[in-house]
Amino acid sequence: MPSSKTRIAILGGGVAGLVIARHTAGKLDTYSVTLFEQTDQVGGTWVYTDETDVDKHGLPIHSSMYKNLRTNLPREIMQIPDFPMKHDEGPSFVHHSVIREYLWDYAKHFNLYPHIKLNTLVKYVEPETLRNGQTIWMVTYQDLESKVETTKAFDTVVLCNGHYSVGHIPHIPGIESFPGGSIHSHQYRVPEVYARKKVCILGASWSGIDIAMEVSQYAEKVYISHNLPEPIDSKISKNVEERPGIQSIQGNIFIFRDGSTAEVDNFIYCTGYKFTYPFMSTKVEIRTEGNHVEPTYKHLIHTDYPSLFIMGLPGIVIPFPMFHLQAQYILSILEGRIKLPSSEEMREEYETEKRALLEQGIPLRHIIKLKERQWAYYDEIAAAANISSFPPVIRKIYDYSNKMRELDFTTYKNYQYRIIDDENFVVCYCKPC
Ligand code: FAD
Repeated sequence: MPSSKTRIAILGGGVAGLVIARHTAGKLDTYSVTLFEQTDQVGGTWVYTDETDVDKHGLPIHSSMYKNLRTNLPREIMQIPDFPMKHDEGPSFVHHSVIREYLWDYAKHFNLYPHIKLNTLVKYVEPETLRNGQTIWMVTYQDLESKVETTKAFDTVVLCNGHYSVGHIPHIPGIESFPGGSIHSHQYRVPEVYARKKVCILGASWSGIDIAMEVSQYAEKVYISHNLPEPIDSKISKNVEERPGIQSIQGNIFIFRDGSTAEVDNFIYCTGYKFTYPFMSTKVEIRTEGNHVEPTYKHLIHTDYPSLFIMGLPGIVIPFPMFHLQAQYILSILEGRIKLPSSEEMREEYETEKRALLEQGIPLRHIIKLKERQWAYYDEIAAAANISSFPPVIRKIYDYSNKMRELDFTTYKNYQYRIIDDENFVVCYCKPC
C-alpha cells in the first residue's frame, strides 16, 4: 500500500537537520521522516575533532570547530526557543562541547534517533516528474560501513548540509612561492603550534579575530590583514598588528596593499566558506557564485521546486532560533497553510529584492548576511507561519553583546546574561574563564 504520509528526506544532522526533524517527527501521522548523516554523530560542526583532513571513511572532515572555541553568542539567545539550555554559573558564551551536549540532549529529548541514519552519505539527489505532474525526489545514499548504496523516493527534500565546511581560498599572486605552512580556518585547531612564529591571518571577521587572539598568546607576531573600510580595534594584544589586504607574496615576504611588507612563517586564511551541494542533480539549477545561493525564495525555498528547501542560508543571524522558525515555515507550506506564489513570481520577487539591495550598495556576496535585516526576516516568516517571532529582549541582548564585542574583543565573552521577561535582561561580569 503506498503511504499517504509525506516522505521527507533531511540531508545532514547538524542543528538545522535536527530542528526540522523535531518538527516533522512530532507529526508522525503526517510525515515519514528520514535524516541522513554522514558522520557517526549528530551535531554537525559542533562535534569537534582533532582531525583536519579526512575521516575514517576518507571523507573530508566536516567540523570547523577549534579546540578552545567558545560561542560568539550568549546562550540565552543562541538556544532553540523550545529547548532552553541549562543555566550553569559562569559566562553565557560557552565552550563548544556544551553545545554538542545540548544538541545530543535535544535529539534524545524529541526522540529523533529512530529517524536518523548515521554513517550514511547522501550521494545523489534527483527530481523526477510523475505522470500526474508531481515532483518526487530520488535520493541515493550509501551506508559507509557496509558500502551498500540504496535509492529511495521522497516527496520533500530539506538540505541541511551546513555552510561552514568548505573554505573559500582567494588566489594571492605569488602564494606558490611561500615556503611556510598555510591553512584555512576550517583546519585550525590549536594555537600552540604557532609558538614563536610570525603569523599572517587574512580576514578580520569573527574567525579571523578570534584566531588572532588565540594565536597571539604564543606567536612572536601576528599580522591581521583585511580589506575592511574601517580599521578594527587592533588592541587585541601588543604583538598583533593590523595591515591592509595582501597584494602579493614573494617567498616568505608578504606585500600588503599599502606597500608595507612583513616576513611570515605561517599563513591562515580566515576568508569564509563556500556553499556546496555536490550531491545535487544538474537538473536542478543551484548557482553558488559570489557567496550566494540562487534561485531561492525567502532564503529557503527553491523557486523551481517548492518541495526543495535549503535551511540556514542567511549569515550574521541567530542560527538556532532561525532554524526553529524556518522549520515551522516549511511545515506551513507542506500542510497548505501557506500558499506559495508561482515559480515565476517567486523568482521575480527575489530578483526585485536583490536589485534593491545592490542599489543600496550592498555587494552580492553580502546580501545573504542579514545583520540588521534579520529581525524583519524572522517577523515575516513567523507571521506567514502564524507563529510568534522572538520577543524584543532577544534583539536587545544581541545588540548589547555586539556592542560589548566592538568595545573590547578580549572581554565580551566574560559576561553572563539573564532574561528577566520579554523586554528586559540583566548582565553581569564574570571572572575570565
Ligand atoms: P552543520 O552543523 O555544518 O551540519 C551539517 C551536517 O550535514 C553535518 O553533520 C554533516 O556531516 C552533514 N552532511 C553534509 N553533507 C552530507 C551528505 N552528503 N550526506 C549526509 N550528511 C551530510 N553559530 C552560533 O549560533 N553561535 C556560535 O557561536 C557559532 N560559532 C561558530 C563557529 C565556527 C567556527 C563555525 C564554523 C560556525 C559557528 N556558528 C555559530 C554557525 C554554525 O555553523 C551554526 O550555528 C550551525 O551549527 C549550523 O548548523 P547546520 O545544521 O546548518 O550545519
